[in-house]
Amino acid sequence: MTSNNDVPPFVKDKHIHFIIEQESNRSYEYWLSEHLRMNGLYWGITALITMKTLNNTTLPQQKVIEYVMSCWDSESGAFGAFPKHDAHILSTLSALQILKYYNYELHPLTTDQKQKIVKFIKSLQLPNGSFQGDSFGEIDTRFTYTAISALSLLDELTKEITNPATEFTLKCFNFDGGFGLVPGSESHAAQVFVCVGALAIMDELNQINNLKISNWLSERQVLPSGGFNGRPEKLPDVCYSWWVLASLSILGKKNWVNLEKLENFILTCQDLENGGISDRPDNQTDIYHTCFGIAGLSLIDFKKYDFDEIDPVYCMPTRIVKDFKKWKNK
Ligand SMILES: [Zn+2]
Repeated sequence: MTSNNDVPPFVKDKHIHFIIEQESNRSYEYWLSEHLRMNGLYWGITALITMKTLNNTTLPQQKVIEYVMSCWDSESGAFGAFPKHDAHILSTLSALQILKYYNYELHPLTTDQKQKIVKFIKSLQLPNGSFQGDSFGEIDTRFTYTAISALSLLDELTKEITNPATEFTLKCFNFDGGFGLVPGSESHAAQVFVCVGALAIMDELNQINNLKISNWLSERQVLPSGGFNGRPEKLPDVCYSWWVLASLSILGKKNWVNLEKLENFILTCQDLENGGISDRPDNQTDIYHTCFGIAGLSLIDFKKYDFDEIDPVYCMPTRIVKDFKKWKNK
């Protein structure tokens, strides 16, 4: 398809502009995606911090923290995606990650609020070890990862939680080498990431078949484009650069795929005019694919881009993860 000469450079300044615009723009699309607002903020901040450009000029810290705290749902004791929305596990993890970017002790959350979040998350775990996303009942291994990651950020993981969660996660493993949403459901790359990531946090990676999973993951690279797909026979998509390569990194098999071809695929999905990254070349850009495209480039070669090195388990800069692990062990 594209020869190396056709691969565009990384347009960092355009991406910064694209992300800032997203955060201050009050367009129709903005309100349409309001249920994603807290996640969107996490994606934007993660992209900025990975490019070493998170500061008060790009995104004022005070405004970000005020927004996060305005999404506190005092009834459930956790965070919604938007002010006055019901608390959800996904927006709660995003809120904790954002606060962690600014300080390890998660100010301005009070001890009482932290305890309420722990209670909220624990209340979502069912007797079989799975997690619901909120009190309305949907079950998904995505929520297991989210709950485990959030509890780990709060330094509140215990065997009482991780033993059943591990058992449930292992039941979602399929013979083909992938993981599904629930036991018996089809393998999907995003579910592989959440299962492998959750097991990594719980220190249970020794329970899985590393080679079989790494094989399934490396088969996700679609040639000649070099991008990854989420399932066999599907088109490549930039966000799988993260889900697949982060999983392979956790398993120590990052070099099982052609990193140069993947890098070129991500670069060809940039909007060179307006900034932002799309799922496939020439498609509409969005903040989600921009974040995971940049995170993917960090996994491939953070030094080349002068990026912050990203942690494949938490999708946060490694230096921050190291620091809160230090803080955690105090
Ligand atoms: Zn995608």
